[in-house]
Amino acid sequence: MKIKKTRVLSGVRASHSSLHLGNYLGAIRGMVELQNKVGHETFYMVADLHGITTSFNPKMLHKNRLEAAKDLLAAGIDPEKSAVFLQADVPEHVELAYLLSSVSQVPELMRMPSKKDEYRKYADDGQLKGVSFALLGYPVLMAADILLYKAEKVPIGEDQLPHLEFTRKVARRLNVKYGLRLPVPEAVLSNELRVPSISEKGKKMSKSTPESAIFLNDSYEEIKKKIFGMSTDAGKGFRAPRKHDAVYALFTLVELVIGSDRRRELEKQYLGSGDGVRYSEVKLELVDAIYNLLKPIQTRRRDLDNNPAKLRGILDEGAMKASKVASITLDEIKGAMGLS
Ligand code: ADP
Repeated sequence: MKIKKTRVLSGVRASHSSLHLGNYLGAIRGMVELQNKVGHETFYMVADLHGITTSFNPKMLHKNRLEAAKDLLAAGIDPEKSAVFLQADVPEHVELAYLLSSVSQVPELMRMPSKKDEYRKYADDGQLKGVSFALLGYPVLMAADILLYKAEKVPIGEDQLPHLEFTRKVARRLNVKYGLRLPVPEAVLSNELRVPSISEKGKKMSKSTPESAIFLNDSYEEIKKKIFGMSTDAGKGFRAPRKHDAVYALFTLVELVIGSDRRRELEKQYLGSGDGVRYSEVKLELVDAIYNLLKPIQTRRRDLDNNPAKLRGILDEGAMKASKVASITLDEIKGAMGLS
């Protein structure tokens, strides 16, 4: 008996800014775990077409789409288990987006909360001047991305929820209007894991504050310098460290990289009547754990950097796998709309 697999689609932006531990633990690791889950079929796409909705530099886009793909593969997305592809390599995305635009209303697109700020940025005279048709249609292309694979689960951040809601509406409209049976996709919200900044209390690790972050390509020495620079206290206290306390970030990193048992042990030491926590030992342990986590990522990254033909092969195969599924859905929808 053939068991039906749950299809998952997830996209990453075609931008190249070195990824950090926050991106890895908060976003990419979940994608890696999903591809290993029994009964799941994963499609991971670099959303390069979404990169032309606002002004862009073609040379940079060309470079960044490949860099983003390398980031995914280096972080452990396995092309044997997942289809890894560049969106522009699978023309069905654009074709379906056009078909879906016929059931998309302009006012509802203009109301998308996450794009409103962008519209405002471009609307120098309040008339939406400078807003491209592509920017307005961003949710339509996203709906095509999802519906082509009949994805039932879409891992997204909360900010993308209105877009997914739009995809659900479009799917229902097509089903009702043309007698289709497209699955109405559901959001899988990421588990709110927040990797703390290593430099500022109460903040999250972010690329916009480089000193807050440990980057995936940091060397052992760099990691060591950063972790040993993290603030500490006397090693003892009357309550476990909370979000705005000096050692909260350190305890949280221990939990996220080494494990929650180790954090609990440290908290016991912190609250106990003994000598308290010896931070230099904990920091060294954490440096080693982070380095061990990043080492295989860095090795894979170097391999891909040195082997563009291998990368091209993986992406061609990914596009083929994606297109095989996407073309069936597209034919089905075209047929129902009287176009084939
Ligand atoms: P940044 O905040 O560094 O600019 P992005 O906004 O590009 O990162 O986020 C890319 C992905 O990484 C998103 O899914 C986001 O939720 C996740 N992410 C970024 N920073 C963190 C963090 N400190 N902890 C957990 N997840 C994070």
